Amino acid sequence: MKCRVCRGPAVVDVRRHNAGFCAEHFIDHVHRQVERAIDDFRMFSPEDRLLVAVSGGKDSLAVWDILLDLGYDATGFYLDLGIGGYSERSKQAAVGFAQRRAAKLIVRSLADEHGFSVPELARLTGRVPCSGCGLNKRYEFNRAALQEGFDVLVTGHNLDDEVATLFGNVLHWNVDMLGRQAPVLEERVIGGDVALVRKVKPLVRLAERETAAYALLRGIDYIVEECPMVAGNTQHRYKEAVTLLEEASPGTKHQMYFGFLQRAAQRFAGDAGEGRLVRCSSCGAATPAWDDGEAVCSFCRTKALAQRRREQGPPERKSRRRRR
Ligand code: SF4
Ligand SMILES: [Zn+2]
Ligand SMILES: [Zn+2]
Repeated sequence: MKCRVCRGPAVVDVRRHNAGFCAEHFIDHVHRQVERAIDDFRMFSPEDRLLVAVSGGKDSLAVWDILLDLGYDATGFYLDLGIGGYSERSKQAAVGFAQRRAAKLIVRSLADEHGFSVPELARLTGRVPCSGCGLNKRYEFNRAALQEGFDVLVTGHNLDDEVATLFGNVLHWNVDMLGRQAPVLEERVIGGDVALVRKVKPLVRLAERETAAYALLRGIDYIVEECPMVAGNTQHRYKEAVTLLEEASPGTKHQMYFGFLQRAAQRFAGDAGEGRLVRCSSCGAATPAWDDGEAVCSFCRTKALAQRRREQGPPERKSRRRRR
């Protein structure tokens, strides 16, 4: 296969575009796809200060790399989740990338900020690790962006991530989630102050295979191993299912996601459940105003539960007396 642009030997083929690219023109192609997503969805402007949530994986390091190349003011943010050696190695990938690109990286640790790690939180609350982890990440990313004065929070979600989420939301008819599924979530304000920072996903026009090829061609040293707590993550199963369909019919993922945005997303806008926000009475973060007057955010409620369980110690085991 030949490069679509220079007719030299292609190193990457993008089947849904029916095109091959040499390394140089594939990198151009990736940059153009990201620029187009930024323009089409009016994600941000060159004056905005961007905070990029970096996990050490290929997607988040790729989006940071691309935004720096395109001349944006992009700072990385790494949150140490305390998942043993995996967190250590992913932190090293984020720090190493920042050093090589001479870019600013903010590092925080969940244990330092709140006194528990993701595995500990899962053990204390009895909930699956990914659910507590997602809550922690959403809370800490937003908190860091507000505290450090950033305008926009950038995540490395790619087309595969968005299609898998859409597929799961349709399977379960999560209409509120369908109402919120978009490449841009606008900022929310309480009493004139930003309480939820604008969130954007500039990689939505790129498949996972393309971000992996980009990271490889750019020599980005990312963490390849999967999180050891991923077992049972339904998102992975949905990704595999949609990838099977894509292999049989290239373009399926793009058609499903962008078809949804163009033809269906608006129909669910009223289901998004984006009612009035108030400040959490414990930490001051934004939380929905419930009818019963409850104004403690879900992060604080989860943290309080974990602290209570820790103070109580492990539940006592009932002694089993043998009947005589
Ligand atoms: S797999 Fe689950 S626990 Fe691990 S980083 Fe992802 S969301 Fe967190
Ligand atoms: Zn070329
Ligand atoms: Zn709170």
